[in-house]
Amino acid sequence: MKIFNVGVVGATGMVGQRFVSLLENHPWFKLTVLAASARSAGKTYGEALGGRWVMPTPLPPEAARMTVLNAATDLCKIAQSVDFVFCAVDMKKDEIKALEEAYAKAECPVISNNSAHRFTPDVPMIIPELNAAHTQIIPFQRKRLGTKRGFVAVKSNCSLQSYVPALYPLNDFGVERALVCTYQAISGAGKTFDTWPEMADNVIPFIGGEEEKSEQEPLKIWGEISGGKILPAGSPRFTAQCIRVPVSNGHLAAVFADFKNKPSRDDILGVWQSFRGMAQELGLPSAPKQFLHYFDEDNMPQVKLQRDLEGGMAVSIGRLREDTQYQYKFVCLSHNTLRGAAGGAVLLAELLAAQGYID
Ligand code: NAP
Repeated sequence: MKIFNVGVVGATGMVGQRFVSLLENHPWFKLTVLAASARSAGKTYGEALGGRWVMPTPLPPEAARMTVLNAATDLCKIAQSVDFVFCAVDMKKDEIKALEEAYAKAECPVISNNSAHRFTPDVPMIIPELNAAHTQIIPFQRKRLGTKRGFVAVKSNCSLQSYVPALYPLNDFGVERALVCTYQAISGAGKTFDTWPEMADNVIPFIGGEEEKSEQEPLKIWGEISGGKILPAGSPRFTAQCIRVPVSNGHLAAVFADFKNKPSRDDILGVWQSFRGMAQELGLPSAPKQFLHYFDEDNMPQVKLQRDLEGGMAVSIGRLREDTQYQYKFVCLSHNTLRGAAGGAVLLAELLAAQGYID
């Protein structure tokens, strides 16, 4: 595999910092450009961050010395100097859409963490283990944009990266409907306990826009390509409540599910145990060896104990049992800024490189 030069747009943010730390020793991707807003542009990355570096590993010295570029005014320069960019910015939705399409039109593929393009019908929204085939929409998007190389691909919201991976492999039983309650970490809001002290000893029963994303995005993942668009599936039906809890990292979900053909408990455990997606088949560098881990103990999975499993890229599941109103209920967990954000985007970029969409 060739070595790709990579830029991070939104490099100073919570997700951007994750990209910088994940790219430090990446076997295929070399970090060569850091970009953010006019507030940071022109400073070294270390200066622009000030005291904002919150990753558990030290700020890579090489990155600290790099000069931060302006994501908008340096766009042409950035697009010409890298093979693709990761994008994670805090801007208005229409501004993000325009920025990402401008990079794509400058022939620079964009792998995005932002929600702006998730419902653009020819933009694939991919969890590489589940719907890798949706990359086949990219030629249609390139035609619309008038590009040869450039396109936008996105990853889905962090809230659903535990329960969608648990349910999707059970498709053979016809997943009909699911009710989920998510318990979401404060890093999902770009915060730490230092920057959000009100969250200590607190639970907030509202996360703006999150329930809609948790209910609607899965349908695009279950969707099919037809007529140059990804058509969202009509089922399973999802209903969600999303709650902010005083946890630094790791989103947990309590799930209730019904199937057309009710599987046995052993059927479900067998599917989870044996499941391998395209990421595992291709041996992508960031792919967990075992995507879905089931824990038999009644008090598992726990956020603190399992969020970092397989580099924070695996999904932990437990407490599978029959329910009185739904057929089954269980609990699942994933790391929101690794699998749910930057790690999931790096894995998606690896898939796109392995499939030849990024060359
Ligand atoms: P964040 O910590 O607030 O960082 C925002 C980044 O955007 C900073 O680098 C900031 O640069 C940059 N930015 C702001 N305005 C800009 C502009 N006008 N032009 C260029 N860059 C600009 O946000 P975050 O938590 O990393 O989230 C970033 C994106 O990822 C959001 O769309 C969020 O919804 C999504 N996301 C986050 C998570 C998560 O777990 N945190 C998970 C999935 C998706 P300056 O420092 O120069 O202002």
